Amino acid sequence: MDTITQRWQAIKASIQAAAQDAGRNPEQVTLLAVSKAHPASAIRQVWHAGQHQFGENYLQEALAKQLELQDLAIEWHFIGPLQSNKTQQIANHFSWVHGVDRLKIAERLNAARSDTLPPLQVCIQVNVSKEDSKSGVNAEEALKLATSINGMPKLQLRGLMAIPAPTPDHAEQQAQFHQVRLIYDHLIQQGIALDTLSIGMSEDFPAAIAEGATIVRVGSAIFGPRHSHNPA
Ligand SMILES: *Cc1c(COP(=O)(O)O)cnc(C)c1O
Repeated sequence: MDTITQRWQAIKASIQAAAQDAGRNPEQVTLLAVSKAHPASAIRQVWHAGQHQFGENYLQEALAKQLELQDLAIEWHFIGPLQSNKTQQIANHFSWVHGVDRLKIAERLNAARSDTLPPLQVCIQVNVSKEDSKSGVNAEEALKLATSINGMPKLQLRGLMAIPAPTPDHAEQQAQFHQVRLIYDHLIQQGIALDTLSIGMSEDFPAAIAEGATIVRVGSAIFGPRHSHNPA
């Protein structure tokens, strides 16, 4: 078996263990394989092992791989930063968009999504780190944005996504994810229907699962280190 497939199997096993440790059903946690900066051939390998959801950050890179992998039934998730001038293509080449963090982007995605496609599945990106530079909204803004998105016919609001500041400390990771979880619970209390918590990456997915992650976005732990990326 090739290295990528072995690592993928190990991550699947770790997800299962983390879910069981948290008293959760492992089937409630979906692995999104983050394939940015890795070639289509690597995606094809993991696809054959049974991985069908892939996340990409850069539009041009993703479009090229989608063309190469047209023969595979892949569910594509856009997880990168959203720029206004890219919304037309992002809205129509992905099933999910994780990082919606402002009304204007939501409106553009809704306007661009083709009527022939099912609604685009979206998560609102929330910011729980203290640094102002991080993208994402606070709890109050999340509620407003969620309410607006619920009025958009071509978008289906699924949940929240976050990228907390990286830390090697498990307790600190969990404390940050807990902040996201509190916002998630708050929105549900306010009557917003949500079923997705997109939190956790290679270095912190067990802590995210302990806090209720339903999608973990794992890249380097499956595909290996990224030597470069080509922002496009
Ligand atoms: C790159 C990326 C990931 C995956 O990160 P790894 O540390 O390689 O697992 C997850 N989410 C987002 C938003 C990313 O940009």
